[in-house]
Amino acid sequence: MESAFSDTILRWFDANARVLPWRLPVPRNDRLSFDRAVRARFPDFTKDHPISIRRDPYTVVVSEFMLQQTQVTAVIPYYERFMARFPTMNDLASALQTDVLKAWEGLGYYRRARFLHAFGMRVSSDYDGIIPPLKKELMALPGIGEYTAGAVLSFAYDQPEPAVDGNIVRIVSRFDAVPHVRGSAKALRTVRKRICELMPTDGRAGDFNEALMDLGAMVCTPSSPQCEHCPLQQMCQAYAADAVGRFPVRPGAEDKPVTSFSYVLLHVHGSVYVQRRPKGLLEGLFEFFSLPEPFGPDNPAGFRESLCRHLRRRGVYDAPESAGIRFIDKRRAVYSHRIWDVFLWEAELSSVIPAVRDGDPEGACWVRAEKLHDLPFPSVLVPWRDAFISRTISKCLV
Ligand code: SF4
Repeated sequence: MESAFSDTILRWFDANARVLPWRLPVPRNDRLSFDRAVRARFPDFTKDHPISIRRDPYTVVVSEFMLQQTQVTAVIPYYERFMARFPTMNDLASALQTDVLKAWEGLGYYRRARFLHAFGMRVSSDYDGIIPPLKKELMALPGIGEYTAGAVLSFAYDQPEPAVDGNIVRIVSRFDAVPHVRGSAKALRTVRKRICELMPTDGRAGDFNEALMDLGAMVCTPSSPQCEHCPLQQMCQAYAADAVGRFPVRPGAEDKPVTSFSYVLLHVHGSVYVQRRPKGLLEGLFEFFSLPEPFGPDNPAGFRESLCRHLRRRGVYDAPESAGIRFIDKRRAVYSHRIWDVFLWEAELSSVIPAVRDGDPEGACWVRAEKLHDLPFPSVLVPWRDAFISRTISKCLV
């Protein structure tokens, strides 16, 4: 059964593999020099473990960081822009974090960008820029868990390591008709072991893992799987039992905490107040002035009172006039562990740009509207930021 599984899936992959920008073949000369560099840097490991350079390990790492929580089609343009901006590990390692976040802007889950940058710096300083082909060393690097380690080792170095994510759990759950729970750590552990049994023993581990990824994306999809076109149909237990919809099992509804608050696009004479987000969610990105309370459009008086109070605390006594205040919009942003309900207001101060003082949040400063584009912002703020920039610039042109 095991070899029938791997033979079938590899045959299907040979005819149906997705063409993706991070799957470009490594030119022969580059492959040879990669191979030499890896062997020279890790001689003890490579003398006992045959490795074969299958893909450029840097492209595997960048794409895998981007693909966590994000669909392939959404990732492609970001990946291409990112690789044009940081074509090598050394370009990434020597970049400023702000520039890396800027290149990531709009893709979301910015923790991945910070980890990727930290990963690049560590690989550059500790391993001369060569991504280690060893699981233990890889997993000690920033942002690398079991899945990404398996992806790098198998996709880049063709080592027989499983790379199991939710897609693979779904395929195996259906194939074996075992009710694995979606997203559970136990399911990942069990399926990893099962994949080790199913993996080919005579090479092509990278093809095998990529084949499963492609099958999960194109055929054994979460809803409406295309069983009639599936190469595994004859061996699939859930299909045989006419019970595909029962696998895998849904986890209990997850209750994410919801935080509601207000952002204020505070501006004066074409300059906008921004500050950097502290440690935690969206760390290092820029944001507008904020108030802890959510103010809807029905409460401009409450909004103005709270804004004046918070401005006074920062030593700003230039209270915006009611006429200079307007409600813009409300948006919901869903993150991995919480939800934000954000109310956005615009408020124009009338006199001079207030000084930034000690005790203001990190990175607090006033930025000309046309320079806001240079700073990375959370996706939820980007449309508002861009609308403000266009409006300000078109006003200047009139
Ligand atoms: S037969 Fe259907 S359920 Fe089974 S592996 Fe193929 S697509 Fe998935």
